[in-house]
Amino acid sequence: MTARITADWLHEPALQAVFDALETDGDTARVVGGAVRNTLLGLPATDIDISTTAEPSAVMEKAAAHGLKAVPTGFDHGTVTLVTRGTPYEVTSLREDVETHGRSATVRFGRSWQHDAERRDFTMNALYCDRHGIVYDPVGGLPDLQARHVRFIGDPRLRIAEDYLRILRFFRFHAQYGAGDLDAAGIAAVTELRDGLAGLSAERIGMEMRKLVSAPRAAETIQAMRDAGIVSRVLATHGGLRPFQDLRALDPLAPEACSPALALAVLSDGGEADLDDMADHLRLSNAERKRMKAARSASDIPRGWGEARPAPVSDTEIRRLLFLAGREAAIDGLLHAWANAGTGPEDPVFLPALERLREAEIPVFPLTGKDLLAAGVPAGPHVGEALARAQAAWIDSDFSLDRDALLAVATGA
Ligand code: ATP
Ligand code: MG
Repeated sequence: MTARITADWLHEPALQAVFDALETDGDTARVVGGAVRNTLLGLPATDIDISTTAEPSAVMEKAAAHGLKAVPTGFDHGTVTLVTRGTPYEVTSLREDVETHGRSATVRFGRSWQHDAERRDFTMNALYCDRHGIVYDPVGGLPDLQARHVRFIGDPRLRIAEDYLRILRFFRFHAQYGAGDLDAAGIAAVTELRDGLAGLSAERIGMEMRKLVSAPRAAETIQAMRDAGIVSRVLATHGGLRPFQDLRALDPLAPEACSPALALAVLSDGGEADLDDMADHLRLSNAERKRMKAARSASDIPRGWGEARPAPVSDTEIRRLLFLAGREAAIDGLLHAWANAGTGPEDPVFLPALERLREAEIPVFPLTGKDLLAAGVPAGPHVGEALARAQAAWIDSDFSLDRDALLAVATGA
């Protein structure tokens, strides 16, 4: 099977300049991995990685000779980042493994595209294309890609023992790009070797799980991981699978549902402490941790949604939620509540509420501490208390009390 890619990114002058620099003195260069895979699937390419027959020191020299900026980002394992017109391209010299121990491999640079392909993880990730878009497929990735079949290159057990992260990558790529059942030999191998996950760093696990939970087929994939005894080993939870399935079912209606923080919050079926456990376990950033918690607490804000349904959510409640949580957390909270309601995408209440949360103006509280000081409230804790009192009255009035009325509430006048 021969294939040829046409894509705008391939014809970017910046990328062609990288080819111009690398393809000198008998060396060749090809784009590899995600960019080729995604383009063949008709999906946007994220980062563009390049492989070349030139060794890292030669890559540096070629870049200098062509006026390209070269940063030795991973020189020892063969990676130099070339920056042209502000776009970074990771250029990695062809490698072959000599010896592997868990994560780190002893590599040497080689000139064989076949060997370079064989040390990658899945057949669909070992596709290359040259500067004209001609696709090279050393390990039979094209038919697998067409079938959306994530298949280990070589013997799955051996490949996993070289790097246990491949267990999670197997599920992650299925969730993103797979279809149908997971590869049977792959499932058998990941199940057998799952104890190896214990030796992985939390950062590496976190990076894969973030991508996995927000992928289109995440729900069925998490189910398969649970069947293989893997979820509890990587997530510090057994997984609130039904709400999570409902969340993923909202993807077509709500692109907002794809945030990894929201997905993880829904997947964690415990309280605040469990969210912290999950954030620790996956080394989430502070912003992600905050977003998970905000989604959880905003899902409780809409008063009476439980009892009042299927009555529509009132404008007052929409304003209240936006004011108390802010727009992002308000939408996350609504989606969290929707996923947990068990009523599915057709629910007549949540969709109109989501649309209003996206568009409605967020009320701005018209009073500040300065106003209170000017009105004679003594500086100190009284100011905060008086403001809180006024704010509560303002919310209760459906944000209708004006500044003078609020000042009166605050000062007890
Ligand atoms: P994404 O769109 O998520 O970036 P990607 O295919 O580019 O997908 P990366 O994690 O960026 O994935 O890795 C780039 C390429 O490097 C992969 O396509 C694969 O060929 C190879 N690779 C990355 N990690 C591993 C690994 N742990 N074991 C073997 N090969 C790997
Ligand atoms: Mg990539």
